[in-house]
Parts: sequence; C-alpha cells; structure tokens
Amino acid sequence: MEKNIELRVLEAMAVRGVAVDENHLQKLQTGYEGEAKFATLVVEFGLSHLMWVEDYWFKIEDGPKRQPDFLLVLPYEWIAFDVKNYKTSFEYREGKCYANGWSKPMDNIVSAAENRNENLQQLAREVTGNISVRSALVFINENCHVTYDRMPNDVELVPRTLLRRFLEQYRHTPPLKDWLVQKVSVVLDTYRTEYGMPFEALKVEDFASLRKGIVCGGCGFCGTERDKSQIICHQCGNKQTISEIVRYHTIQQRLLFYDNPEMVTTRHLYELMGKQITIRSIRRYMGNHFKVVNKGKSSYYQVDIHNTFK
Ligand SMILES: [Zn+2]
Repeated sequence: MEKNIELRVLEAMAVRGVAVDENHLQKLQTGYEGEAKFATLVVEFGLSHLMWVEDYWFKIEDGPKRQPDFLLVLPYEWIAFDVKNYKTSFEYREGKCYANGWSKPMDNIVSAAENRNENLQQLAREVTGNISVRSALVFINENCHVTYDRMPNDVELVPRTLLRRFLEQYRHTPPLKDWLVQKVSVVLDTYRTEYGMPFEALKVEDFASLRKGIVCGGCGFCGTERDKSQIICHQCGNKQTISEIVRYHTIQQRLLFYDNPEMVTTRHLYELMGKQITIRSIRRYMGNHFKVVNKGKSSYYQVDIHNTFK
C-alpha cells in the first residue's frame, strides 16, 4: 500500500531540514502503519477479490471534502472503513469520542462517519436505488481497548479482535460484475476531488537552503559514501546503484516542490545530491527514463508525482 502524498512530501521535507510539524508527521506515519496493516489483513482474510477503493476524496457541491480510508463496494452495500491506530483505548460515551485515556473528548469520528454515510448514500443512489451505506471504524491496534455505551446507527465500532469475524462475512460474496464496477467508477470519479495540502509549498528560492547530500533509499538517512559505482549508506549499510540513487532523488525533488513540476532539472538534482553524482550520469539516466519538456534553460523533466521510489 502506498503512502499518501501528504506523508511523502512531509517525509521528504523533514530529511532535507525543512521545519515540519513533527506531531502531525508522526500522526500521519502512525495512521499509515495502521492502514497498511489493514490492507494486509484484507488479503489474509481472503477478501482481495472484492472492489476496494483506496484514498478516495470526494465532495458534493459546496460541502466539505470527505474521505474513507477504504471503501468496500458490494452489490447491495457500501462500507466505508476508517482505520484508527490508537495505542491504548477508544471510548464512545454519550455521543462523544475519547481516545488513549484522555478525559477531553477528541474529534467526533462517529458523527463524521455518519455525515459521510449520508453523502455516500447520495452517490450510491446514482448507481442503483437499493444500496445501503454504512461505516466501520476499525481499531487496528491489538492493545486498543474499545468501549461504548451504545453502538451508533450505521457506524460499527470494530476492535482488532473482531475484525476477522466482521470481514469474513463477505468472504463468499462474489466479485462485482464488470459493468457494475464501471458504473460505480464513473459515479465515484464524478465526485472525486484533490486533497489540498494543509501546509504551504516550498518556493523556488527555498531550494538554496535545503540540506544537500545523498539520502539512503533504505533508511532515509542523509550521509553516504561512494565506492566505485555504488553508494553505501553510513547508517544501515544499504548499497544502491547510481540509477537507483538518481531515481530516488528525482522523486524526492518532485515531492519537495509538489506544486512546481519545473523544479526537476539536471542542475537541481546535481545540487540536491550534494554534487556527488556527475551531471553526465544524471543526464543519461533522466534521458532514458523521463520526458524532457521545453528546450534550453527552461527545460525540465516531466515526473508524475504519483511515481514511487521503487
Ligand atoms: Zn540507510
């Protein structure tokens, strides 16, 4: 499962010495770990043949942007999953939510799921008239103790220990017919929206102050040495080829300047990697793998931000 763009951008910024909100970064990392664990369990419990939609942001007219972590689309039912990675506890009491033993209520994730159900119901109606929508809040951490005074309507609270039972009821559900997958996809695309980054993008002039050097693709450490055609990490001993290194930094540069694709140039990559890889090697790799846009001074490499490091 892929990390979302926001997390990837923040990780790239942090390694380059940009001041980021550490708490927020950690929250995203913990969330990602929980979602990755959930995605693994879906396969393990034998449900990978069903239609799962990941990272779906949508919006109805001027309403707020909403997102289920995973949307399971069945013939007569849609289930929106939120995966929560709280370490110790979750409590739903008198319509309020509490996590990890805090006495102060947190964001109301139950009422947010209820509102989202209503919105998704509207989308489902455009597919066919008889689809029911509900949500499942999955508490993926084995040590998270879940309690409630009443189970909310259409929002099921699912502790890790009951997840297998919850999911296995759909194990024998046949996969969606192709025409229905298409119909659902068309409706989902109609309401799809881009997730806006909650922090400001780096500006062109910020490039100068970024920490330069080669970052290890294995552990993310900035500090390596070159041994002939290999780059060896000081931290974890990971060995990478020049091609792997150039690819990694190309994507990192694209993420750092996520709203400015023109920042992926030979010169910038050369400097980002601490001038440790020759311009010639960079040009050779880039020329073979990415399209060049424009000519001369304004040329840059076209890199899709959804590209991955691998
Ligand atoms: Zn390393």
